[in-house]
Amino acid sequence: MSRVNTVLGPIPAEELGIVAVHEHIGYGMPGSELDTQWWKTPEQRYAETVPKLRKFHEYGGGTFVEVTGICNGRDVDYYKSLSAKTGVHIVACTGFVGGDTALPFFARASVDYLTDHFVHEITVGIGDTGSRAGVIKVGVSRGGRMTELDKRIYRAAARAALRTGVPILTHLAIDAENAIAIFHDEKLPLDRVLFGHADDGVNAEKTRDTWIAEQGGRVGFDTFGYETELEDPPFWARPRKERLDHFLRFIDGHLDKALASADANCSPLGWPGVKGHTVNYLFEDLMPDLRAAGVDEATLTTLFVDNPAAFLTIQA
Ligand SMILES: [Zn+2]
Repeated sequence: MSRVNTVLGPIPAEELGIVAVHEHIGYGMPGSELDTQWWKTPEQRYAETVPKLRKFHEYGGGTFVEVTGICNGRDVDYYKSLSAKTGVHIVACTGFVGGDTALPFFARASVDYLTDHFVHEITVGIGDTGSRAGVIKVGVSRGGRMTELDKRIYRAAARAALRTGVPILTHLAIDAENAIAIFHDEKLPLDRVLFGHADDGVNAEKTRDTWIAEQGGRVGFDTFGYETELEDPPFWARPRKERLDHFLRFIDGHLDKALASADANCSPLGWPGVKGHTVNYLFEDLMPDLRAAGVDEATLTTLFVDNPAAFLTIQA
């Protein structure tokens, strides 16, 4: 039977509903937890997060895929509590946002060590939480080219994906030739990989989105809502219409490979976050924009229900 690991246990893929495939409950750079000026009480974190997840649920959101890597503030017991209180399925990840966010302990680890660690978190659990990871996060370090460490993490992720049947989700889809070479080398089918952030303002020009799709990879337009129109836009923002048009061009021909999300932070760690941007952009802005552009309900179901379910389903 089709199955997906959530923090409260495995569920049938048919129960995922509408999926936000690349999101964060709380994301911060490694070490931000040591800077006392950014400390938040549990009450503050819940107060910032619960209303966003409740609203997500009210809008019809079913599943929130939390892709904060191992060193970026991942907190699985907290996700379990949020899921139980709000009714939103939460999928947690193993892996790293990129080589440059892996702390020295992991940065010095071998491919075998990293592989075994990812497999353990997927098949046994993440620490003593009892929760199993449902996706593996990897990414390209700052600089635009995969580093030696990025490549080691990608190789370990590919091996863990093959051993467990759990898919891989990437931070950035630039330098895809090197990533795909590793996946081919490890014989991982590319439909088990979602190449993310194909749409952000910094990398969209450099990302070979249609080429990735033609190789069989899935492509994430997953920074929706980071717009130059925001009050205080981040450096990766992009004009709203430019991103939407890019997405419409992509799904015209590559719908089966497309996934969309907002990459929002419910309660950022070590930084203020981006004001006015939440996961609910998907319901409040993106879906209305798509409908206004003539996208029909069946296509929305493919994008937000069927494609993520196919991606997340553990391959037996
Ligand atoms: Zn992200």
